[in-house]
Amino acid sequence: METLAKLNLSQLEEFVEALGEKKFRAKQLYSWIYTKSADNFDKMTDIKKDFREKLKQSAVVLDTKIKKKQVSKDGTIKYLIEFQDGKCAECVLMRFDNRANLSACVSSQVGCLMGCDFCATAKSGFQRNLEAYEILSQILTIQQDTGLKVTNVVFMGQGEPLNNFDNVSEAIKRINEDLQIGIRRITLSTCGIAQKIKELCSCELVPTLAISLHCADSEIRKQIMPVEKKYNLSELKEALKYYCDKTGKRVTLEYILIGGLTDTKEMAQKLCEYISDLKCNINLIPYNPIDCSKYKKPTKKDTMLFKYLLESQGKKVTIRLERGADIDAACGQLAGKA
Ligand code: SAH
Repeated sequence: METLAKLNLSQLEEFVEALGEKKFRAKQLYSWIYTKSADNFDKMTDIKKDFREKLKQSAVVLDTKIKKKQVSKDGTIKYLIEFQDGKCAECVLMRFDNRANLSACVSSQVGCLMGCDFCATAKSGFQRNLEAYEILSQILTIQQDTGLKVTNVVFMGQGEPLNNFDNVSEAIKRINEDLQIGIRRITLSTCGIAQKIKELCSCELVPTLAISLHCADSEIRKQIMPVEKKYNLSELKEALKYYCDKTGKRVTLEYILIGGLTDTKEMAQKLCEYISDLKCNINLIPYNPIDCSKYKKPTKKDTMLFKYLLESQGKKVTIRLERGADIDAACGQLAGKA
């Protein structure tokens, strides 16, 4: 059985020809899979019946299954996707009432190796990288299941995308070409692997970059994010400047406010110093509690004060809306369990 989500247009053409059909049939198939998000061949009504039968015998659109689906009060939907080898990862669809955007948050790995102390994915250990088509399949699943068209993709699910560089860059290319999502609407979030950020700048398609900074004090950052021991804040800064120079784009700095640890006045001051010469926006994420966690949520007052202190330095600051916390779909809560 061939999995058609593995194939781009020219590969679909080869596949169709190998089945003894005319090449143009591939275009029809391509549009059913990627534009109309058909999940089976019976829906492909303008494809003649005997070819549809042949397809049923020899192929499937996706080789993944929805193992579990949860819908939050706020409309966020979380899917646990099971891949061919039985491994699972989560993806999330976020809708915002006042915006036309539909954002898919995708996973790039089953588990993660980075070991951030506040993150549920880290606690689940690392199993394997996802293939490019497995990343694409997450978006196709969302579209097939909801009948909606995803407009934005964020690599903010499970895994560290820059540790699965080749598959992630291939996925970005296919999200752009096959799913027709503009490169500016694709965001990659990384915990800060400086060397790979530079490599990313040489890709044919460079996504919008978000950095999980979370702390501008090296000692404390080391305690919560082991990556700081390998690529410290100053190396990270250099890579971010390189990204800004090379692409002309701004980076988004994600910053988790952990009560009493990263949300203090002193930490706000350190962050202001760190970003004073950087083209960036700041996205503050109030800490989302995970099981057996030693960290606390910030208070509303401390959150607003932190925001105010940054804004007084002339930076654009947003507070990330908490989405899907009631179904453990919020940032850092994806553990991939059934
Ligand atoms: N590995 C990549 C992609 C994951 S993105 C990265 O680190 O950027 C998921 C985002 O949620 C990251 O910014 C991550 O640091 C943040 N996060 C993790 N645990 C969290 C928690 N408990 N509360 C709030 N945000 C969290």
